[in-house]
Amino acid sequence: MLATVQRRLMMNASPAGLPVLGPVERKVTYRLYPSKTVREELFRTRWVHCFLWNLALEERRRAWKEEKRSIGFAEQCRWLTELRSCSALLSSINAQSAQVTLKRLDLAFQAFFRRIRQGEKPGFPRFKHPGRFSGFGFKQHEGDWRLIARERSAHLKLRLSGIGEIPIRGKARTPGEPRTCEIFLSGGRWHASVTMRCRPAREHGCGAEAFDLGTERFLTSARLEPGKSEPVVFEVANPRHLRKALKKLRKLGRTISRKMEAAIRKHGKRKGFRISKRLRKQYELLARMHAKVANVRKDFLHKQSAAMVRRSGLLITEELEPKRMTASARGSQKKPGKRVRQKAGLNREMLDASFGAFGAMVGYKAEEAGIGYLEAQARTLKPSQRCHRCGGVVEKTLGDRWHECACGASCHRDENSALGLLDWGLAKWEKDHGFAFPGPKVDGNGKEWTGTDPCVEREALAGWNLAAGWKSGAMHTPVKLTAGKRETPSQSR
Ligand SMILES: [Zn+2]
Repeated sequence: MLATVQRRLMMNASPAGLPVLGPVERKVTYRLYPSKTVREELFRTRWVHCFLWNLALEERRRAWKEEKRSIGFAEQCRWLTELRSCSALLSSINAQSAQVTLKRLDLAFQAFFRRIRQGEKPGFPRFKHPGRFSGFGFKQHEGDWRLIARERSAHLKLRLSGIGEIPIRGKARTPGEPRTCEIFLSGGRWHASVTMRCRPAREHGCGAEAFDLGTERFLTSARLEPGKSEPVVFEVANPRHLRKALKKLRKLGRTISRKMEAAIRKHGKRKGFRISKRLRKQYELLARMHAKVANVRKDFLHKQSAAMVRRSGLLITEELEPKRMTASARGSQKKPGKRVRQKAGLNREMLDASFGAFGAMVGYKAEEAGIGYLEAQARTLKPSQRCHRCGGVVEKTLGDRWHECACGASCHRDENSALGLLDWGLAKWEKDHGFAFPGPKVDGNGKEWTGTDPCVEREALAGWNLAAGWKSGAMHTPVKLTAGKRETPSQSR
């Protein structure tokens, strides 16, 4: 049995001929399908871990208050060992796993002290409610947890010490060596996030691509194909199914808060009254819908970032600062921002969150493919304000969607950003490498390539449409293509 798992997990990861990265750690999420008894055991285990968290937090507070000393992770582990010898509850969970919870608390404290040192809002680690406790972890594969092959099934089973065996579903993109495992509940469903040590590889294309993420369109890209002098601009719209799901989510959220308000009025207090069965059901539905929307969004981001790496040899974007982005909608007292209301709310929040996630996805995928990934500092470059043609600064608020410059440049603001970023990225590449991108080609052995452009050749073979910059039948369809020319506002809206 074990040999099968090993074979399945440790197979050579690299598709023929691709360079591999690593070894690095990657997380794989599996969905758990527990039986009724195991499910109850999962909930009970989470409860005990939460109890342990609160107990350990209380102990740290007590030591500080009474003895003016701070307790570290090692001391808490010894403290736990003593407690386990006299508590049936604490000894009912796996010892290694209990230490993982203590480690999490330790990390929370370290983060707290770091924030104090850096003069940020400290945020003392909190006592937690079992219903909101995120989950628990295991640290040693083949020790306290194990992935097991199933007979006559492509899927695996997960054995958790002290809990049992659970059928799971999910697949690692790059098989590797399992290290740690985290169990968590999301949208009413149990999942396992397994950290794998692996050597990922990924195909890439050629040409340089700079992209700007936006709220009305998901992204706007400016691509420079090999051998061309003029960039091609195209955009990818926000997916419609996601917009629909968000609408539904908002509606349900409003219904629930209305009912909550009514219940609060009826009972005359804000907390501590019984919540009706029906309202509880709706809460669960809302949590499931949130999880669903997050999943759909994540799937979309993964597909988009993978497609981008598959078609490019150099990727350029601006460094994202989620905090600043949210604040900027409000503006200052002197200069109030426009469309503050439109920028606020759920939609905006989720977009902000996914911008950061998308940047990270593109970053690690570019690393796996071994291509360049450059992030411009938004504060110094100001890609949205600076004219891509003349380099002058044209002040815009978030509400100004069009870039109009005295030099005659006129295009969508995202298009201006993407073109500006492309220029910046190509210049940076040339400065860093001493030759222009894509420049002299180097083969897998580090030798300079003198024949036809290997990049172009491989793309042509793989059926890529070089002029358009994406593969036929790929995941996404660019909505509009504007080759070099800039249009007037009326035509493009
Ligand atoms: Zn200009």
